[in-house]
Amino acid sequence: MRKKIIAANWKMNKTFEEANLLIEEIGMGLKERELENKEVIVCPPFLFIELVTDFSQDFPFNVGVQNISEHKSGAYTGEISAGMVKSTGTDYAIIGHSERRNLYNETDDVLAGKVHQAVINSIKPIFCCGELLEDRKKGNHFDVVKTQLEDGLFDIDKEDMKNVVIAYEPVWAIGTGETATPEQAQEMHQFIRKLIVTNYNQEIADQVPILYGGSVKPNNAKELFSMPDIDGGLIGGASLQSEDFLAIVDAAE
Ligand code: PEP
Repeated sequence: MRKKIIAANWKMNKTFEEANLLIEEIGMGLKERELENKEVIVCPPFLFIELVTDFSQDFPFNVGVQNISEHKSGAYTGEISAGMVKSTGTDYAIIGHSERRNLYNETDDVLAGKVHQAVINSIKPIFCCGELLEDRKKGNHFDVVKTQLEDGLFDIDKEDMKNVVIAYEPVWAIGTGETATPEQAQEMHQFIRKLIVTNYNQEIADQVPILYGGSVKPNNAKELFSMPDIDGGLIGGASLQSEDFLAIVDAAE
């Protein structure tokens, strides 16, 4: 059975003091809980990686970054490489979040480079995909997600694919309060799993966790996570308050 993964994407939020308080509350809350068959990943801004990684030594969660460079090293002012991330003891990197794709023009080619850098540095990609509202209205959502996965992710080999987490995040549901219905999400997750079978094999498809992201809240998490191909969530807004985030962790069974 696949374990459930609940990942927090703090985006560009919190001061150092606020981050300290939030991670302490989340850590303490997690320590009191039974987390068998669940994994929690916290992805803070780069500046707070050391803070959050220090807490992860004493509390039951793993740490990820929100982005990495597609380059190995060199003259790329302001960028952070996968090797640097790994050297801080961080295990995961969100790659291809829709905000990176849409606001920073990260193309599938660039994302394939980031995935490559992640896997050669033993960082596990949390690879995001998802369609715009106009794609869904036109009925193109399956094609869009297929292209994103085939061009951005599926170049890696079988062994590396076993360490990937996929996050399906319909762009129209991110930060909007609008959630895909559990049935809409399940339909896409099942489609993604079939794509993994086609591009790899059934064994790998059965193994890869596929998270749902897009306005997951304490009041809708349980229903979403109960669908057979939804293996947890990537949580934005609701990960900024410990009570909400912990309630979402509780909703994953
Ligand atoms: C996200 O940014 O990955 C996300 C899912 O955000 P929210 O939960 O706020 O919709």
